[in-house]
Amino acid sequence: MDLVMDSFRARLEERGIPLSVRQMEQFQRYYELLVEWNEKMNLTGITERDAVFEKHFYDSVTLAFYLDLSSTPSLADIGSGAGFPSLPLKIFFPHLKITIVDSLNKRITFLKHVCEELGLEGVECVHGRAEDIARLPQHRDRYAIVTARAVARLAGLSELCLPFVQKGGVFAAMKGAQPQEELDEARYAIRELRGQFDKVETLRLPDEQSERAIVLIRKTDSTPKAYPRKAGVPLKQPLQ
Ligand code: SAM
Repeated sequence: MDLVMDSFRARLEERGIPLSVRQMEQFQRYYELLVEWNEKMNLTGITERDAVFEKHFYDSVTLAFYLDLSSTPSLADIGSGAGFPSLPLKIFFPHLKITIVDSLNKRITFLKHVCEELGLEGVECVHGRAEDIARLPQHRDRYAIVTARAVARLAGLSELCLPFVQKGGVFAAMKGAQPQEELDEARYAIRELRGQFDKVETLRLPDEQSERAIVLIRKTDSTPKAYPRKAGVPLKQPLQ
């Protein structure tokens, strides 16, 4: 009996996301690689199997509770670190074309290795600062969904993420509890970058019960050319 996997599968099935045997094997292998590589490089502070399955894998997949990923063509994950939330989402929605941007090359090397080992196709792992990558025409105003988890406060984060979103697309910021203060602080930045606040979805992790919030921001038009500003500036001096 595998209690961790059984509980993971049951919790997701409750939300209408069934898990196949292949997907269970992919999550198990992902867990093994995460723990193995974590000994050589800093990927995560969470290594207990049940905690990784709940706080990384399940938490990542919660985005699919609120956005219809089965009809979404492309998703970009900014500051993905060890692959969260995009790789768990890719395991569930294999048709998704994923672009990952991270400024730490060691993590990009890890992510490429995970994709190879798990047989995940259509994942582009880009090494660089979001501020620079968002200026490249192949990435600018391109993605139906752009997400980021645990990267920065919303005002600065919006400048890293919104330039990647296509008109009509969504920026989904995955946050801990109570994002209201961050949201108030980010209102000007969101507008200036051509976003429009839509809503906040809240949930609790099923076993550990900690609160999570997903802030949904819609892109109303192309982001003005002035943004993002030079690498480092958006997080040091958020627009306000
Ligand atoms: N999203 C992952 C998660 O939820 O576990 C990783 C979070 S980790 C705390 C933040 C990640 O963002 C790191 O991997 C870091 O290298 C990356 N990062 C920070 N600033 C960045 C930037 N300006 N452009 C691209 N990546 C960035």
